[in-house]
Amino acid sequence: MPEKREVLTPDVLIIGAGVAGLSCALHLARLMQECGQAQGSPSSLPENIYVLEKGRELGSHQLSGAILDPRALRELMPDFPNSLPFCTPVTSDAVYFLTATRAWRFPYTPRPLRNHGNQIVSVSDLVKWLGARVEKEGVTIFTETAGRELLYEKQGIVGVVTDDKGVDRNGGRKANFTAGYELRAKVTVLAEGPRGSLTKDLVNHFRLDGTNPQIYAVGIKELWKIAPERIRAGQVVHTLGWPLRSEFFGGGWLYGMSGNRLSVGLVVGLEYHDSLFDAHAAFQKFKTHPFIRRLLNGGELIRYGAKVLPEGGWYSMPRMYVDGGLIIGDSAGLVNSERLKGIHTAMKSGMLAAETIFEALQSGDCSGRVLSVLKTKIDRSWIKQELWPIRNFHQGFRRGLLHGLAHGAIQRITRGYGVADPMRVRAGHEEYYKLKGEPPPFARTRGDGVLTFDPLTDVYYSGTRHEEDQPCHLVILQPDICHGRCRLEYGNPCQYFCPAAVYEMVQEQGEYRLKIHASNCVHCKTCDIADPYQIINWVPPEGGGGPNYVEM
Ligand code: SF4
Repeated sequence: MPEKREVLTPDVLIIGAGVAGLSCALHLARLMQECGQAQGSPSSLPENIYVLEKGRELGSHQLSGAILDPRALRELMPDFPNSLPFCTPVTSDAVYFLTATRAWRFPYTPRPLRNHGNQIVSVSDLVKWLGARVEKEGVTIFTETAGRELLYEKQGIVGVVTDDKGVDRNGGRKANFTAGYELRAKVTVLAEGPRGSLTKDLVNHFRLDGTNPQIYAVGIKELWKIAPERIRAGQVVHTLGWPLRSEFFGGGWLYGMSGNRLSVGLVVGLEYHDSLFDAHAAFQKFKTHPFIRRLLNGGELIRYGAKVLPEGGWYSMPRMYVDGGLIIGDSAGLVNSERLKGIHTAMKSGMLAAETIFEALQSGDCSGRVLSVLKTKIDRSWIKQELWPIRNFHQGFRRGLLHGLAHGAIQRITRGYGVADPMRVRAGHEEYYKLKGEPPPFARTRGDGVLTFDPLTDVYYSGTRHEEDQPCHLVILQPDICHGRCRLEYGNPCQYFCPAAVYEMVQEQGEYRLKIHASNCVHCKTCDIADPYQIINWVPPEGGGGPNYVEM
């Protein structure tokens, strides 16, 4: 029998309290208030905007080795103070090419990687700060609440069902069972970040895919407390080369933050051919380079995290509107992969969505036709000015680093055309080469516990916590494939690409079985993207579970 649920009816429902969702909520609340003050009797109130956040508190699921271009923040908050406590102004930039033992500094920093005027920022703190302003405007934010299922109606959506609490691992009710709500809204905004589970469902349901499939990279990051004066606060270093082979898209970063903290990370495009490549192990190896080891020696690990980034660019953006629904921010793929930035575009898309929704509510028509104005607004904004000239950037790296850099230069001259426009690509999971022969036995990185760490130690530093007795949120749609075809053809890449040691192929009485340590999951979404058969479906666990990326 279907669950009987309490129904709430906000005007606007925003899924995800990241920078895109909160910018949308804040801008919309202010537009409503301004309109109400002008007319004397507002038709919509900020109280009728709901924001859902699956993390246990605002900012707990926000991870980024982030440099903020403050352009959108200044538009959203013209009174934004220049020196926020969680921001470190960038003071210098450098790019290095690494070999196994040497680091060669580029004679100059390429323009897309120059960060003068930008800020190294803790996204978690930025979100907390924005969230406080959103709540002050009267918007209701529900933390520890995941949007579990979309409510479809004809050519669109009318809201979501939130997660049930207190369900045991077999689907039975525990003593603390509480049914989720049915939230029915005039407009539902999906701002879930990259590869959101509801966005994936919506895109598949209405075939909203762009010209290219979305292509992702995974970023793995540690925050260190380092010895004084190893790196200046505000110093930004990007690296290319080692430990990634030339066929990989990716590179490393080092961001000097205030308080002798250093953000160190490695980003790797999820379109590589080697199904046994282990991104977490590559990141640990990265730290052993003399250039990086020197900075970290004598320091200590403070936090760990991992997250995917949508890298496909303009041609991978899905259609962003349906009847009663919008997709914004990272969920819509609005990231500048050449500049390695997406916070400012996510915020701007949230603001443009707010204006679109405001107009739709005023006209009393929230159909896809009216909400499609969001795309027009994006096309007329600086988002398009920024993303259009690099529309074929990431695709150029499909044949390796050198090809990509050369193609990037051609793109600059041709204003984005490159050598073919649009340059078509396949989804990353279609790029694996099949193994020749028996898969090798899997061995996890161990780490020395000082400079390098095994994934479980790193998970500890992510603050990840899940209710143990709940249904597994990593749904394997065809388990037979795991111990059969996948083991033989690709050697079970889930054991390698998951940066949190969640997947383990075990042998019991001569039979192979996939064991899932779901409580380690740091919600990076890599498995949902990189599985070669697309049979791993990441769904939100009970709200409040997951990492706790404070100070990241
Ligand atoms: Fe990331 Fe999937 Fe591993 Fe969770 S299980 S940490 S989402 S790869």
